[in-house]
Amino acid sequence: MLSDDCLFCKIIEGKIPSTKVYEDDKMLVFKDIEPKAKVHLLAVAKDHFKLLADMNDEQAELVKYMLTKIPAIAAANGCEKGFRLVINQGEDAGQSVFHLHIHILGGETLGW
Ligand code: AMP
Ligand code: ZN
Repeated sequence: MLSDDCLFCKIIEGKIPSTKVYEDDKMLVFKDIEPKAKVHLLAVAKDHFKLLADMNDEQAELVKYMLTKIPAIAAANGCEKGFRLVINQGEDAGQSVFHLHIHILGGETLGW
């Protein structure tokens, strides 16, 4: 289920514009508005939940699905030589949008 009060749900619903690079019935991948690497994509599940700790079994299957799709999506978008995935969780990690999302970073040699 999507939430009325969530930036990424609004992007999924098309109420807020984004640069989409991949979409199917389960997930959306779009460009991060403030890229931290030459390629910086965000993969979001089409279901609103905040944290890995909140996931039910169905949502865990969605994350597994996303992880199986991401390598080809990354490779098709400039990360042929590798990429890094980041999932910020909570305050200390600097999570700013509370809809689970996977950062896909690459397109260059990444520092730590
Ligand atoms: P996090 O800090 O892990 O919650 O990541 C949130 C990410 O969303 C940040 O990297 C932001 O740059 C990105 N972001 C915020 N608003 C938008 C937007 N309207 N379109 C695309 N990316 C966004
Ligand atoms: Zn949401």
